[in-house]
Amino acid sequence: MALIVKKFGGSSVANAERVENVARIVTDEYKKGNGVVVVVSAQGDTTDDLIAKAKEINPNASKREMDMLLSAGEQISISLLAMAIEKMGYPVVSLLGWQAGFHTDSNYTVARIKKVESERLKAELARRNIVVVAGFQGINKYDDVTTLGRGGSDTSAVAIAASLKADRCQIYTDVDGVYTADPRKVKGAIKMEEITYEEMLELATLGAQVLNNRSVEMAKKYNVELEVLSSLENKPGTIVKETVKMEKMLIRGVAADKNVSRISVVGLKDHPGTAFKLFNALGNAKINIDIILQSVGRDGTKDISFTVSADQCKEALAAVEKMQDSLKYSKIVHDETVAKVSIVGTGMETHPGVAAKMFEALYDQNINIQMISTSEIKISVLIDAEDADRATNAVHAAFIG
Ligand code: ADP
Ligand code: ASP
Ligand code: MG
Repeated sequence: MALIVKKFGGSSVANAERVENVARIVTDEYKKGNGVVVVVSAQGDTTDDLIAKAKEINPNASKREMDMLLSAGEQISISLLAMAIEKMGYPVVSLLGWQAGFHTDSNYTVARIKKVESERLKAELARRNIVVVAGFQGINKYDDVTTLGRGGSDTSAVAIAASLKADRCQIYTDVDGVYTADPRKVKGAIKMEEITYEEMLELATLGAQVLNNRSVEMAKKYNVELEVLSSLENKPGTIVKETVKMEKMLIRGVAADKNVSRISVVGLKDHPGTAFKLFNALGNAKINIDIILQSVGRDGTKDISFTVSADQCKEALAAVEKMQDSLKYSKIVHDETVAKVSIVGTGMETHPGVAAKMFEALYDQNINIQMISTSEIKISVLIDAEDADRATNAVHAAFIG
């Protein structure tokens, strides 16, 4: 008997018909004699709708109460899926995150899994139950409900697969695999048979939302092979694993991230310690900084610009405002209408001219670059959000065709 973990995203369980479709996929696996754990997300746009409801009442709601609210979405989908499986005549039990043993830290809304105590899961599997688990949630040391950050159900599935040493971990979604760019936005995006953890992690971190980046990080750490596949079409998807047979391509994929804001602190003193003070304050406020650009000092002052995720823009601005007395900058400017477009590929390490080719593709489209950041296996540019789709298509065409 094999043990299979299957995860279904929001669109795969969006309505009764889709829930019944998932019940069929799950019971087909169970009928083969395999143990099945199913992780599900909230239905359709439920999580977005819940966030909107919260904003209506209190835009500054505490993160603890946000988690209490958001975890409700997954509670609905696990019970509905279990009901659909019951109706088909199979033994099934639904479990919330805490019942399935998910222990997390206390960073509400972006909690990290500390461990999965899998006794209950194992006991249910031993009884030959199909186990349906609420993704995206856990419990902290105060017995409070926590959530894992947007897209966190992928990580729940990988955590269960790792802790149960499952034979397979399948991530079902609304596309049939991982493509060289978002197939909904980029004409000619190509489906990959396989991709390495390393490249998938970069793509996911840089905005390819098909897999949550923490789920890839965890899959790599515990060597859980993932398959990304469609819940609507019965065909092989994309395998994510340590090494792949495919020839090394110069560029593996292009990703775009519109959830970005740029903040510029203008007129800082041009002397030692300025950057330290600024980023120390941001670090203490738990703000993740992405690209940083410092201007050359002139007349004793300089400017520092950086990007943060759009969700943290307000908090970042507040943290910088608190530093006015000590940093004595002249003003802060911010822009929430920016996007980051990136290319990823381990092949670029050994090929000169990759950056020039990317910038040429943008120049041909008359797209202005505001910031640039590079590593061995990626190049990112910050541009106007309204240019993002055009830029992604142009860069994809230049490298992948
Ligand atoms: P789920 O609700 O199943 O978790 P998501 O919406 O989180 O699904 O992720 C699937 C979506 O990711 C696809 O509909 C697609 O538009 C988008 N996507 C972005 N980049 C890629 C890519 N490189 N390959 C495939 N899909 C991608
Ligand atoms: N429902 C959560 C979200 O929309 C978690 C997930 O879908 O993975 O982000
Ligand atoms: Mg997702």
